[in-house]
Amino acid sequence: MYEEPLLRVRNLHKHFGPGCHQCREATDRKLEKNYCPACGTVYACQDVSFDLFPGEILGIVGESGSGKSTMMQCLYFDADVTSGEVYLNDPVFAGQNVLELSSQKKRYIRNHKYGMVYQNPIQGLKMNFSSVGNIAEKLIAAGDRNVSNMEATSKKLLESVHIPLFRMKDEPRNFSGGMQQRVQIAKALSNNPPVLFLDEVTTGLDLSVQANVLDLIKKIQRESGISMIVVSHDLAVIRMLSDRTVVMLNGTVIEEGLTDQILEDPQAAYTQQLVYSLI
Ligand code: ADP
Ligand code: MG
Repeated sequence: MYEEPLLRVRNLHKHFGPGCHQCREATDRKLEKNYCPACGTVYACQDVSFDLFPGEILGIVGESGSGKSTMMQCLYFDADVTSGEVYLNDPVFAGQNVLELSSQKKRYIRNHKYGMVYQNPIQGLKMNFSSVGNIAEKLIAAGDRNVSNMEATSKKLLESVHIPLFRMKDEPRNFSGGMQQRVQIAKALSNNPPVLFLDEVTTGLDLSVQANVLDLIKKIQRESGISMIVVSHDLAVIRMLSDRTVVMLNGTVIEEGLTDQILEDPQAAYTQQLVYSLI
């Protein structure tokens, strides 16, 4: 069955630094891993392309420093790309590179089409707001104005991520790491976005807590049909969650395919290493 991708990411580039005569030309760049030894410019993302299809969980795996977070920040408009295109299959934005839209339209997309769960909950939550207040903030951004409505929606969302009712007015700073991530997930889902980005959502959590959060993500995806991009350095996490997987190394995509295929028959030497280290 042929389906239009929900998100098309094409030739995304992001570098940090001025570049020099040794590295400016993409075709014969001599880099050490992802940086230019002559001028120190970091090529965090080089020519990253992939599709996200409706209702799938796409995994992005790669070692620390491979450019995963930079890529997510660019997709979520937290950072500007050096160059590249992203197309969202939405009647309003059809055929437009959303990276080139006005900041007002980007804000609209963030508020209505995207949800983001950061590795560090401090980036995604106001630690001194109540959990309900954190969700209400996103609901207001998405245009909600009815206070009792917002409170009811927030409670329902927090319930769905298993935050007990009596803690809903608590501030996330008083929560454990696993609970903070669950509040972030509830907040990210509050505007019913078609696309959810999750960056290392379980990194740093205890294994049992990690398993809980991963189960929750799977359950949410099954029940809502939302499309997700899940980034992790840990292939075990990606294996658990994703239908298809993109492997990144030094800012580039080195392999992609069905997760099962990649696990059974990894092509790139780096992917082989990743897969064998799982066993
Ligand atoms: P990952 O999420 O895969 O661990 P990152 O996207 O965080 O990788 O980082 C990719 C590369 O970009 C790394 O080499 C990192 O040091 C570099 N980098 C990230 N942010 C900046 C920045 N603001 N300035 C300079 N270099 C950066
Ligand atoms: Mg990262």
